Amino acid sequence: MTYRSTRGKDAGTSFSEAVIKGLASDGGLFVPEEEVRFTPDEIKKLCGMDYKGIAAEVIAGYADDFDPAEIRECVDEAYTAAKFPEGPAGFTTLDGSLSVLELWHGPTCAFKDMALQILPLFMKKAVEKRGESKEITILTATSGDTGKAALEGFRDVEGVKIMVFYPSEGVSETQKLQMVTQAGSNVNVVAIVGNFDNAQTGVKKIFSDKAFEKKLLGDGKMLSSANSINWGRLLPQIVYYFYSYARLVASGTVKFGEKIDFCVPTGNFGDILACYYAKKAGLPVEKIICASNENKVVADFLRTGVYDKNREFMTTTSPAMDILVSSNLERLIYDALGKDCGAVKDLMEKLAACGKYEVGKDVLSKIRNDFDSGFSDCGEVSKEIAKIYKKYNYLIDPHTAVGVSVFEKVSDRTRHTVCVSTASPFKFNACVAGSLFGSDAVEGIGEDKVCALLSEKTGIPVPAPLCGLFDREIRFNEVVTPDLMPKTAEDFIYDK
Ligand SMILES: *Cc1c(COP(=O)(O)O)cnc(C)c1O
Repeated sequence: MTYRSTRGKDAGTSFSEAVIKGLASDGGLFVPEEEVRFTPDEIKKLCGMDYKGIAAEVIAGYADDFDPAEIRECVDEAYTAAKFPEGPAGFTTLDGSLSVLELWHGPTCAFKDMALQILPLFMKKAVEKRGESKEITILTATSGDTGKAALEGFRDVEGVKIMVFYPSEGVSETQKLQMVTQAGSNVNVVAIVGNFDNAQTGVKKIFSDKAFEKKLLGDGKMLSSANSINWGRLLPQIVYYFYSYARLVASGTVKFGEKIDFCVPTGNFGDILACYYAKKAGLPVEKIICASNENKVVADFLRTGVYDKNREFMTTTSPAMDILVSSNLERLIYDALGKDCGAVKDLMEKLAACGKYEVGKDVLSKIRNDFDSGFSDCGEVSKEIAKIYKKYNYLIDPHTAVGVSVFEKVSDRTRHTVCVSTASPFKFNACVAGSLFGSDAVEGIGEDKVCALLSEKTGIPVPAPLCGLFDREIRFNEVVTPDLMPKTAEDFIYDK
């Protein structure tokens, strides 16, 4: 199994090489060159396994330059009971037509841990295999959750340094504190004046600077990415869609072979794309519902075929989804255009030049065979949090609430739907507590107090990784404008 760029170059790239590089040399994203398919019998077998067993099998389907024992080693080291005390993923069936897949039981309380606990292990193995001796610096733009999860995954990993840029406007107080108090000798965290798209654009610019790349190479250094453009991040996310199906079959909620829907709160289109790959690989999935917040550029695209980022960037209560350029969509476009790399390149160049592109009716209808979409605004999200708590005594965060709210609008409940829950409610205390107890109850009091209030009133303990967060020492307080990002990165890479 080899990989190539969505824009045509780098054919024959191994899994290891794709993981190390992150982004293809022409600015495209690595995609598998062959289709991976599990037979119904193989999927049935997966349904009898635990999370780690499923992970080892699914990953092996896409990473054939790792031998099965190496994959199992990575899986075992990533999803330990110490890091995931309640198991890698939680699964709660709320009623006959809706279940919730909880992906926030890891060290940073967001679904990003599912991939970012294992990506560094893939990278370590890939470096060994390829005899790569260059020092790798991971450069990452974050809308709040990737940053912390990547820092936690890569901290103190030998031969690797990690630098995270986060938007000074937009992340929650808890998210910010998680990052600026990060431990580790190889880490750096810098705030950008601007929003996530500014941070992401800045990082992409550094990656595509050929002169800088050459200079780094000359000095025995290279860059890599922990954003979901890295195939090594997408792959571990395919696993939990199979796991969800296994849980539903085990509980008798669906019969083996019966199709289900997934609803995925979407930002950079990584999580939902992994669901699409699971479907392509044979998982019985009918519709994949893309749930957007007010920054509904992807939901609009999935309805109209027009991708248009020329609109106001909205700061919402689900900041991890405040994105106007959803990088991973390029991988879906590649498939929808029949793997016509030239056509993909044209569209992406249009996007870069005018912020807009359009696909034909036939392409859109192909995409709509797999996807449905909708959006919910902050008011609806707040109501949804309160409603789900009242109805099921079940607490969800604002991102998950976007998902559940869109599910209710879009689904006719003919199939069982699994809504992906992407973060712990305790990462977004102000919004969640405000939704349950009214904004008066939370206004003017610090986030630490809101967190305590939320826990006390719901009787749900604050997740261990967030305990004591407000008392930790702040290590990073640098704030720069986007134009200074290259220099800031260079200084860190060269220990200046
Ligand atoms: C990152 C994130 C999302 C969006 O996931 P994508 O893969 O970027 O689409 C949704 N919710 C939370 C809590 C996140 O951290």
